[in-house]
Amino acid sequence: RIVVVGSLNADLTIYCERLPLPGETVHGNGFAVNPGGKSANQAVAASLLGGSVSLVGAVGADANGDMLLSSAARAGVDISGVRTSATEATGVAVIAVDSNGENNIIISAGANGTLSPSDVAAAAETFDGAAVVCLCLEVGRDTVEAAARAGHDAGATVLLNLSPYAEIPQQLADLTDVLLVNAHEASLFLGSAGNPGSAAIPGSDADASDWEAVRLRFAERGLQRVLVTLGAHGSVVLDSLAPAGQQLIQIAPVRVNAVDTTGAGDAFTGAVAARLAAGAPLADAAAFASVAAALATTRKGTQAAYPDENDVRRVLTS
Ligand code: ADP
Repeated sequence: RIVVVGSLNADLTIYCERLPLPGETVHGNGFAVNPGGKSANQAVAASLLGGSVSLVGAVGADANGDMLLSSAARAGVDISGVRTSATEATGVAVIAVDSNGENNIIISAGANGTLSPSDVAAAAETFDGAAVVCLCLEVGRDTVEAAARAGHDAGATVLLNLSPYAEIPQQLADLTDVLLVNAHEASLFLGSAGNPGSAAIPGSDADASDWEAVRLRFAERGLQRVLVTLGAHGSVVLDSLAPAGQQLIQIAPVRVNAVDTTGAGDAFTGAVAARLAAGAPLADAAAFASVAAALATTRKGTQAAYPDENDVRRVLTS
């Protein structure tokens, strides 16, 4: 089983020609309410890709909460660990998207802010026998740490998506088996306190020695296995626990006609969780996730755009 602990948000998206400046009002040309939140997205992606997924989180007693629960349940996610807060509304992300696809996002945590280590303790039975525990930083650090500890103690692989980026205590790094970052988060992490040296993440013309240096920098922080996603440039597997010569694997991009990259990183994370839970080696999981995330960009929306296992297999075998 995969246990995902974290956020559920209603994405309130308004489309406009250009984003408003401070104090300015602009006219929008469309509005949509969709299920979102990194953890809910990751849970849905993992479930559609064949994982048996339990989501631990919190929503409010409102229509947005109902929408999130039914979207996750429809994808096959076990939502019995999602608590309904008596006091807080469901978390929302208010998103403005301009005609170039550039966006502004404001998140109100709402019920996500009430998720606490006691919710992790209440889900103790769910952690029993879990293969993967999947975490991100959209809920409180103490909750993330408690879930990482519970996963570690249960013998699960702890997969941490360091997003939205924040510094993490060494304790959490030590509990992390696989770190998943995009290029931006990777450079923020390597540039943060305690990591002297260059924060630059190699560009698309990088060679293996550039990535070797990055692998060593992560390993110095106790992060032995790291996946770096590079958008349209694919991804990189840094595995300091692999035999020499197999510690760096560059995964070629999957060429698609991307129309909406929102939630691509979450599709990638959910896919990695699903494949690791199925016993796949890290590099295989990343290759599978590259296809799943690429397919997710070919349709508008987030959870509704996610592929299932057959969609991915079709690309892998073509
Ligand atoms: P995030 O969405 O977190 O910013 P990335 O932009 O790195 O993360 O995208 C995550 C993954 O989604 C990539 O590693 C890749 O597999 C896939 N992806 C994103 N954009 C594209 C694209 N334009 N073409 C193909 N795959 C993409």
